[in-house]
Amino acid sequence: MPPEPFFAGPGLDRADSLRADPDRIRGLAQSGDARELVWENGLPAIGDSGKLQWCPASDPALFLGIDSAGVPSFTALQPEIAGGPAVFSLLGMLDSEDAPLFATALSLARWHLRHRFCANCGSETQIVRGGWSRRCPACSAEHFPRVDPVVIMLAEHDGKLLLGRQHHYPPRRYSALAGFLEVGETIEASVARELREEAGIEVTDVTYVASQPWPFPSSLMVGCTARSLSGELKVDYGELEDARWFTREQVASALGGAIDAAFQAPPPHAIARTLLERWLAS
Ligand SMILES: [Zn+2]
Repeated sequence: MPPEPFFAGPGLDRADSLRADPDRIRGLAQSGDARELVWENGLPAIGDSGKLQWCPASDPALFLGIDSAGVPSFTALQPEIAGGPAVFSLLGMLDSEDAPLFATALSLARWHLRHRFCANCGSETQIVRGGWSRRCPACSAEHFPRVDPVVIMLAEHDGKLLLGRQHHYPPRRYSALAGFLEVGETIEASVARELREEAGIEVTDVTYVASQPWPFPSSLMVGCTARSLSGELKVDYGELEDARWFTREQVASALGGAIDAAFQAPPPHAIARTLLERWLAS
């Protein structure tokens, strides 16, 4: 069986029942047992072993949960969050067991950094529920950390798979097409629309395969497959640099890392790779 998506996994017990009790959360944060995530250059620090780094807690604001050994785990608010290519090279070093927690801490800390004011009335909001919500003292609106769903999909026709290149991809990289789900849309409708817009194909049999969080900044990648009714493409070159069909042999060769492969496969932390691995195994 191909591996699970990189950012999927249990992470840690989020202990939702504790979040409603601020005294309990504060008590945990100030207890000698609690640990606090170490950050470095605007990202959770990753040690030589690929594991996240921790220090004794100093009353941090955001409660991440309880780890498998029963240790309360926190992170402090961050004054800045890094972005750009440096982040993606860091992912190559990250241990997959710690990946869900990395994603949670990064998205949550960034959300607090970017959402300090009420979207309803503009007043400064207050952190509640151990950092899993912000409440407005002026209008009582409650705001929750956002999750932005993105559909990412492989279309199949005649035993071949459709993959595309975005303009910013590394040389020879091809990957699954993707796009944000819009309000009022189902996952199935969104997959069909994205493939129609970017590749000019009509699809049927949209099937969910797997999902994973993608903390840049707070997406949920919803991985699907679909069957194309035709092999004829009409690529939107504004969105994509190229899109084409690849055979099963070409996909196998790319995933195997062959130097003469028809394309360079997406990296292990991308759910596109999981989708390709699952398709090949099917
Ligand atoms: Zn308000």
